[in-house]
Amino acid sequence: MSTQAATEDLAAVIGLEVHVQLETDTKIFCGCSTDAADAEPNTHTCPTCLGLPGALPVLNEGAVEAAVRLGKALHADIPERTTFHRKNYFYPDLPKGFQLTQYDAPICQDGELEVRVEDRRREIGITRAHLEEDPGSLQHVGGQIDTADYTKVDYNRAGTPLVEIVTEPDFRSPDETRAFLAKLEEVLEYLGVYDAERDGSLRVDANISMVPADELDGDVDASLLEEANRTEVKNISSHKGAQQALAYEVTRQRNAIQRGREVEQETRHWDESRGITVSMRSKEAEKDYRYFEEADLPPLEVSDWKERLEIPELPDARRERFREEYGLSAEAASKLTSTKEVADFFEDVAEQYDPDLAATWVADNLLGELNYRDMAVTDLGGRLSKFERLVELVAEDEITEKNAREVVLRGMLDEGQTPDEIVEAEDLGKTSGDEVQAAVEAAIAENPDAVADYESGDEGAINFLVGQVMQKTGGSADPGQVNGLLREELE
Ligand code: ADP
Ligand code: MG
Ligand code: ZN
Repeated sequence: MSTQAATEDLAAVIGLEVHVQLETDTKIFCGCSTDAADAEPNTHTCPTCLGLPGALPVLNEGAVEAAVRLGKALHADIPERTTFHRKNYFYPDLPKGFQLTQYDAPICQDGELEVRVEDRRREIGITRAHLEEDPGSLQHVGGQIDTADYTKVDYNRAGTPLVEIVTEPDFRSPDETRAFLAKLEEVLEYLGVYDAERDGSLRVDANISMVPADELDGDVDASLLEEANRTEVKNISSHKGAQQALAYEVTRQRNAIQRGREVEQETRHWDESRGITVSMRSKEAEKDYRYFEEADLPPLEVSDWKERLEIPELPDARRERFREEYGLSAEAASKLTSTKEVADFFEDVAEQYDPDLAATWVADNLLGELNYRDMAVTDLGGRLSKFERLVELVAEDEITEKNAREVVLRGMLDEGQTPDEIVEAEDLGKTSGDEVQAAVEAAIAENPDAVADYESGDEGAINFLVGQVMQKTGGSADPGQVNGLLREELE
């Protein structure tokens, strides 16, 4: 077997289970606030999310709506009715002793998401997406999970709504998973159901096996994938982490097979600081969880929600439309659609002023300066509309492009001032015609030598005079216009 395996070309087969925290005001089965980032531990809790006897769950409509919107974006089947089950296990982060989740009737089934890696398009099948509650969080004091002196538990997170998205084993490289996760986040952000900035808002379990490469040509035999020994890597929290953890596993599994060893079917832990995966435990089987239907939550009829709820134009479609409608390059269209907020802002500005001006100002100037500061649009915290006034000042020719870019934009980003405040404080308003004319006359009167040189045919002398006028007007006059006025005056 070893010589056979060693000479065979191996290829990676990967499937993801992605947990996404849905943005709702309250938890999925109680009224506790989900906004617990700065809260004292265990202050956002109630009898329901602590699992006290007799407390009953009430399903949060907002979480269901978010899942239905996601299902539509993934072209998934949304069944007539969906149910909740108890997944039983003991762990200190789970006060009830079970997690409420969905089992045989998840809210989304059989969808897909298209991703692009370099120039290849790949369609990734979505097996299912289901709603569930997040457990609490554990903090190990004085060491890691196995070496800590003691562990603290915080139930503020217990009951936060999650959607778990399970893909088909359709990925063929770690790069494809990275592209998929980026795309998924983009779609979730467009749907307004997700906040990428929130800690732990995306958590990934990555399943990977290595199979003979020629088996993956054409239609893949399902039983081959079923039988392949795979590892499930847990504790991944970013696109980059997924790519790195999987690249590590590809090498580790390939080495094992080439040395004639079998890859263990097991759960592994991604240790981000060391950049390696480590064995955790053998995988639990489904029967270990003793799933049974939650009697305190009646089945939910969702078919009419699907009709009722609308979703916005999604990133790919919007990108395509921006290219056609505004004649943007692929790169500009891609930058301008990276978040819905930026895309909406660009369209607003493009409609009011001019698409080219809008593209330059949003894609190059604003996003460029943000990028330089390592900031995201979200860091502007609702101040995006202030930048519209800046574009207006440029469009109406009230300040020069150069001042707008170098003084006003930077002042807005670094000092948080409004454009008008900066224009006022720095006296950037373009000088009016009369003032320019006065400066032209003064420059001529004050520089008889230069005037004489010009009159004797020295063309360079005019540039000197232009420079003088620019100085007098604090750089706010238009040099071409000044040149013309000087010539007229000297005729
Ligand atoms: P489990 O019940 O063990 O979690 P599932 O059948 O639910 O298993 O699949 C979990 C994930 O494993 C899915 O994302 C699926 O695509 C992926 N998967 C299935 N077969 C393979 C394989 N041969 N290699 C890698 N991933 C796989
Ligand atoms: Mg699983
Ligand atoms: Zn609660």
